[in-house]
Parts: sequence; structure tokens; C-alpha cells
Amino acid sequence: MTAIKRMFVLLCGYEILPMTVSLRGADPRFIVSVPICAYLLDTSEGWVLFDAGLDSFHLTDPDQVSRYFSPGAWFPPPVVKPVHEMEAQLKAIGIGFEDISVLILSHLHADHSGHIKRMREARIVIQKVEYDYAFSDEPKIAYFPEDYDLPGLNWQIIDGDTPIMPGIEAIFTPGHTPGHQSLVLDLPVTGKVILTADVGDWIENFTREILPGSASDDDEAIASIRRINALQRETGAEMFLTHDPVLVQKIKLAPDFYE
Ligand SMILES: [Zn+2]
Repeated sequence: MTAIKRMFVLLCGYEILPMTVSLRGADPRFIVSVPICAYLLDTSEGWVLFDAGLDSFHLTDPDQVSRYFSPGAWFPPPVVKPVHEMEAQLKAIGIGFEDISVLILSHLHADHSGHIKRMREARIVIQKVEYDYAFSDEPKIAYFPEDYDLPGLNWQIIDGDTPIMPGIEAIFTPGHTPGHQSLVLDLPVTGKVILTADVGDWIENFTREILPGSASDDDEAIASIRRINALQRETGAEMFLTHDPVLVQKIKLAPDFYE
């Protein structure tokens, strides 16, 4: 039994990055633009969102731009066009942020945490290790506290693999960040689906077991890649990657959907 009826893939912008950020050991001269995806699930228990995109406020507010996106920091800044705005994509499906009842976060990097602030009523599911790291005093790159260090959020902190509802399981896949998680889904027609999030940006991270350039722990990162690969082999699941610039052009994007 699965609670999922439909899955929508939201394309929420692009990041302009050296290829080495995604693929360890790539030629340092290569610069690519990679998509930022999020996933919306229409379930019998309400609307579920996996990841919250990047808030374009950080790209337009002068204080935010100088804090996060000046040369020497994260530069050049990402691109969020009006067609990438999450709110507009939800509207095209007929809902708004207020309709999201569960928000599951793979991790709290800024390209995944953007619109948390607009879902104050939602249950926000995150791994304990990620939550603790994000709220720690350790110096961090790509964590924007304006997105998540907010009063009144309805956090649900989980620890390790956790079923969220029938057909949705969170699996603990650390390595890109200390408390990263992915999702394994059961769709009524498509069957098993793995939403890898940032375990690997490109499909080559999986097919060739290439470490991401950006990893909090290399051993954990490669173990998570192998875990996803094993799961894919066992189940024949279809994998959806958050940041693969080629795959994103071959899948159905919202308002189209998978059943
Ligand atoms: Zn990311």
C-alpha cells in the first residue's frame, strides 16, 4: 500500500559551478550549470514536499548578496528566473505553500532550504545529525540561517532510516553533509523511486562511484553512493537526481507528473 498518488518534479533554478564541485577529480577548467530540483507528492495524507529550493530573496536583497554571493564566496550566484519560482509552480498545480502538510528536507544547504519560512504550519522532517550541525556554532559553507533558524517552525527530528507514511521512507545517506537523507518512494504506476538528493549530483557519481567534490566525510559519501546503487539494483527503482543537468532534460517536469 502506498499513500502516494502523484509525484511532481519542480525545477527551481540553476547553480553555476566548477564541475569539480559535483565530480571529484574533474578537469578544473570545466564550469557547468546544474539544476536545483524539488519534489512534490500528492498523497492520501496531504501534500508532501521534498526539499524547499533556493529563495530568490538571497539573490536580490543587496545585504544578502554581499553576505553570501560576493566574489570570493559563492560566485557567480545561482539563477532563479520567474519560471523557476516554487510558488508559481505550486499555483499551476492548484495549491500554495499553506497546503503543504509535510516538508522533508534532505539537508539544510541553501539550495534546499529556501522556502521553509513559507511553510510554518508544515511538519518539517530532518535528520537529527543535520539539525544539530546546522544549528551548531561550527563555521559552515552554504548554510543560510535566515532560511531555517526561525521561531515557530514545526520540526520533526528523526534519527536514521524512518518510514514517513505508507510508500515514503527516509533513508540516512550522510557524506555530502553530516546528516543528509534521501527518500525511497512507492508510486502506484511507476513503482519504486529513489530521490537521491545530493548523494551524487550527476549520474556518473553513481555509475562510476565518483565522490562529490563537496563532502563532509569521504567514507560516508562513498558508502551512501554504494547504498543507493545497491538499493537500485535490488528494487529496479528509477532514480531522480536533484542536480543532474542532463537527466533533468529527460524527465517530466511539473505540472506534468508521475503516477
Ligand atoms: Zn544541493
